Amino acid sequence: MNPDHTQYTHLFGPVPSRRLGRSLGVDIVPFKVCSLNCIYCQLGPTTTLTTQRRPYVAAADVIDELRRWLDGGGSADYITLSGSGEPTLNSELDQIIEFVQQHTEIPMALLTNGTLLGDPQVRAQVSGLDLLIPSLDAATDAAFARVNRPAEGLDVEGLIEGIAAAREQCAGQTWLEVMLVQGINDSDEELSAIRRAVERIQPHRVQINTVVRPPAEPDARALSPAELAHARDLLGPLTEIVAPLPEDYSGDLYHQQTSEAVHDLLRRRPCTINDIALGLSIHPNEATKYVQALLAEDRVEPLQKAGSVYYKAV
Ligand code: SF4
Repeated sequence: MNPDHTQYTHLFGPVPSRRLGRSLGVDIVPFKVCSLNCIYCQLGPTTTLTTQRRPYVAAADVIDELRRWLDGGGSADYITLSGSGEPTLNSELDQIIEFVQQHTEIPMALLTNGTLLGDPQVRAQVSGLDLLIPSLDAATDAAFARVNRPAEGLDVEGLIEGIAAAREQCAGQTWLEVMLVQGINDSDEELSAIRRAVERIQPHRVQINTVVRPPAEPDARALSPAELAHARDLLGPLTEIVAPLPEDYSGDLYHQQTSEAVHDLLRRRPCTINDIALGLSIHPNEATKYVQALLAEDRVEPLQKAGSVYYKAV
């Protein structure tokens, strides 16, 4: 069952996800509060670059929506904390996790940039999750600065240390995601440094991704299939490539209809991701997924206008 989008502010989907099946997104920070400002960010530039934890979104409001969704018969393969920024910045994260664990058997995942996992309090809050998906795009400070453009006070050693500690403490699995950008963090030296970090962290899986979504910076470019295969070999036996296959929307009427609605909108006028989200009352992350699938099918194309990325139907 899909939520009525007009009823929910913090829930989106369930959206089809290659890794997680049907994933209900739970967005617990406002657009776009994050401790990083990654050059490949699908949501555009970070507007509040911070490591300050706060109840940016009140846990009670999120819990109220989750309760309604569950009472309405909501089902998904995962309930995933993610969204419009870095979810661990929400200091009331533990209340939301606790509610879900007490009220449903649906497993819970966290997509995180990993920068706050060095904080023992954050680790304690997330240690009961079924699946942690932290990102590690760099293992030297120079590449970290280039690709992730972190908030003041963050460094790559603290990031790796925090992810390793969380891996050890977390009851569930840890899948490390590595987002590679051509010419920015894909040199053999950088990949070797990331491999050493992988050996230290000991994740259950390493998943390489590249820029297939609309990036924050127009010159954030994807690796070719051959470059991705080379990176996979350098990163070691646990590594798999999860990009650049498009999401599969076939076989689900809701997703087919929404995908067509996005395409119709883009036939009428070029839109940014936010325009699409507002126009169709869907979450920006969900809008991004449809645009990504339409891009892969060559049914839409990006265009640069006034410093923003717009999309139009081909
Ligand atoms: S990709 Fe994730 S971590 Fe990076 S800026 Fe965007 S929301 Fe933040």
